Amino acid sequence: MSIQEISLSGRKKVVSNKEMTFLETMYLIAIVKGLWITLKHLFRRKVTIQYPEQVRTMSPVYRGQHMLKRDEQGRENCTACGLCALSCPAEAITMKAAERKADEKHLYREEKYAEIYEINMLRCIFCGLCEEACPKDAIYLTTSKVLVPSSYEREDFIFGKDKLVMPLDMAMKNTQLKNAN
Ligand code: SF4
Ligand code: SF4
Repeated sequence: MSIQEISLSGRKKVVSNKEMTFLETMYLIAIVKGLWITLKHLFRRKVTIQYPEQVRTMSPVYRGQHMLKRDEQGRENCTACGLCALSCPAEAITMKAAERKADEKHLYREEKYAEIYEINMLRCIFCGLCEEACPKDAIYLTTSKVLVPSSYEREDFIFGKDKLVMPLDMAMKNTQLKNAN
């Protein structure tokens, strides 16, 4: 058996190049066959869900929308080192670093912080490599458990710090829980 004849799936079909009959040139049989396949699928169990109206139950380790975390004092952890952007296979992350001013110590944990931090969610494949690469425990995909909302506009998928940074009240609640335990 030649290598061309081997079919790994067992579903290989040899396409015939023979001339079509008059009936075949009308495509009527092909159309009826196609409609029959559609009709059969109408009554089968649906594997798709109507997102965003329906939301699938996610695994506890599901990688949701990214979150830039704050420390127990509510300061942003990210130091704009760029390692997440370097490790991103989809080149979805961009940022601009800035130096913390003397009166901003309550806002940013490190001397350098991300003035701009953006993720292009249309590029992101939710692999979690940015989370693995981060030396500051700053970026997480698992903690938010939030799906990226759907939209018809491309700009809506560029997530800046307004959408990514953990809300302050959530950080404070986490600190209270940690202190209570
Ligand atoms: S999850 Fe993966 S693809 Fe998405 S931003 Fe992080 S590293 Fe890039
Ligand atoms: S999220 Fe982490 S890896 Fe990315 S720039 Fe901030 S500190 Fe560095």
